[in-house]
Amino acid sequence: MFYIGCHLSASKGFLHMGKEALSIGANTFQFFTRNPRGAKAKAIDPKDAAALRDLMAENHFGPVIAHAPYTMNACSADPHLRELAEQMMTDDLERMEHLPGNLYNFHPGSHVGQGVETGTEQIAAMLGRILQPDQHTTVLLETMAGKGSEVGRSFEELRSIIDQCPKGDLLGVCLDTCHISDGGYPVAEHLDDVLEEFDRVVGLKRLKAIHLNDSLNPLGSHKDRHAKIGEGSLGIEAFEKIINHPALRDLPFCLETPNELPGYAAEIALLKDLRKEKDI
Ligand code: FE
Ligand code: FE
Ligand code: ZN
Repeated sequence: MFYIGCHLSASKGFLHMGKEALSIGANTFQFFTRNPRGAKAKAIDPKDAAALRDLMAENHFGPVIAHAPYTMNACSADPHLRELAEQMMTDDLERMEHLPGNLYNFHPGSHVGQGVETGTEQIAAMLGRILQPDQHTTVLLETMAGKGSEVGRSFEELRSIIDQCPKGDLLGVCLDTCHISDGGYPVAEHLDDVLEEFDRVVGLKRLKAIHLNDSLNPLGSHKDRHAKIGEGSLGIEAFEKIINHPALRDLPFCLETPNELPGYAAEIALLKDLRKEKDI
């Protein structure tokens, strides 16, 4: 199955997102668990969650991705902000139990001058306290572009979080194509090599989702500015290879390109066209 979708606004609830996804030809989507500035989360309406679960089952959706607010920083130098990050993720994961079997993606954090070793240590320790073996959500570390003091700019940094986390076995990874290109991995030119390296360092079995974004900036720029598919430095052929690659093709692909709904619908149609051995 080709699982393809995009980031949607959660402001009108779960069922609304499911219907919106269907209206643009998507069978997965991503949403923020609370507003991106990290305010208090809205209470979950169990009926709304149940209605989305039904819609997803009836329409053969792939896993959906809940995205933590990007202000959440598990390796802030300020202990109060680290505590806040821990509370937010704990609360988000409790709420995700209303949608069992899905994914929760977060930006590992920014070490803000503490150094990457301290950063990975703090992130791993927090995850060790939060993750529960009986949780029905897989928590994903996102590959980052390496802007500022972002942690997760290389596969090794993600590996180091996983290794230091007492419950590292439970962690997965979400690979963002714009971020890894900006991070210096030639995903457009040498996809096979990049995936081999990912497999060697992190393990392909941990890869659970792909953020499909072109990049406004060249390889290794460490900028993190997303471009529409085919309109950036990666180019359309790169995406054709990515969505058809045997190691990736069964994962959920999620667009985070600068688009409104009609633009997303067009990109989804374009990608479906580029999909080989059509199974949708
Ligand atoms: Fe992200
Ligand atoms: Fe992303
Ligand atoms: Zn990004």
